[in-house]
Amino acid sequence: MFCHLNRLHRWLTRWILSLVCVSMVHAQAQWDLMQLDGRDYVSLTSLKAFYNFPSMKREGNNLTLEGKNLIFKLKVGDQEVTLNGVKFICTYPVIESGGKIGISRIDLTKLIDPVLRPSYIPNAGNFRTVVIDAGHGGKDSGAVNAYNTEKAYNLRVAQELKTLLTAKGFKCVMTRSSDIYLTLQERVELANALKESAIFISIHFNAGGRAARGVETFTLSPQGVAHYGQGVKSTDFQARNGNLNDSANVALATAVHSQVIRNIGKENTFDRGIKRARYSVLTGVKHPAILVEGGFMSHPYEARLIENPKYLSAVARGISDAVTLYQKAVSYRKPAATKP
Ligand SMILES: [Zn+2]
Repeated sequence: MFCHLNRLHRWLTRWILSLVCVSMVHAQAQWDLMQLDGRDYVSLTSLKAFYNFPSMKREGNNLTLEGKNLIFKLKVGDQEVTLNGVKFICTYPVIESGGKIGISRIDLTKLIDPVLRPSYIPNAGNFRTVVIDAGHGGKDSGAVNAYNTEKAYNLRVAQELKTLLTAKGFKCVMTRSSDIYLTLQERVELANALKESAIFISIHFNAGGRAARGVETFTLSPQGVAHYGQGVKSTDFQARNGNLNDSANVALATAVHSQVIRNIGKENTFDRGIKRARYSVLTGVKHPAILVEGGFMSHPYEARLIENPKYLSAVARGISDAVTLYQKAVSYRKPAATKP
């Protein structure tokens, strides 16, 4: 059920190596822009040239761009894309128009590029503090099932995570260390009062219909991108604190999402992908921030798994592995390449 260090190492090496390969972007390559419904799309052919993918294959609507250490999969008409097996839910589906296939420019710049080139995110690796936010607490139980409350699971993961990160030399700041109630705004203010650079990780478990299951990770929607599951509103164009870190947010989400799933074991969960939302903590916190939903307490099978302390430990270990991985990925420096 649990991760082997060699698997983690392989993933880490592959991600770091992929930076070497894609940081050699083609200096002269330009993005070929197409327009549909008033939105800009980048043609896949120019994306292939820009990131130096040697090959692009098509089978039906499925497209695979393959480099030495990187596999990027997309599907015409679908919002779901994968990068080295990590699933991302784009804001807009991949389109085909006038004989060309395109990915929306906002998805490319705000979601895909920061993952392909995390080392372009300025100063993101310069932190030793991790704010650990155990969701809910006190009078707010969060999800509840026959076994336990979400607030209790969140706190157990948060405490294990603190132990793991402290052992690695990180300073951990807990929004709560016991069963107390805090508003979302109080969590934001606590994180923003810190003088030093930090990252913010909010821990939750999910509830939904009986069939819903799996792990999902949220980062703040960039400006002009809707809150999850809703249409774009005029307020979606306002810049929020969290939008200062759009790129770092996605890189952190990539690390957390992939490592939590790896530690739980792919066979024990379902990958619901990395998604964008305007949850209050993500909107307000000025540090790179993510919110991870570690499984569904409403799903009969997953509820039993979550009740097992080994599952909670796997979630904590996944986040801990991710913090190290993220820091390494964003700190990597390869000189002289072009930004889009
Ligand atoms: Zn929750």
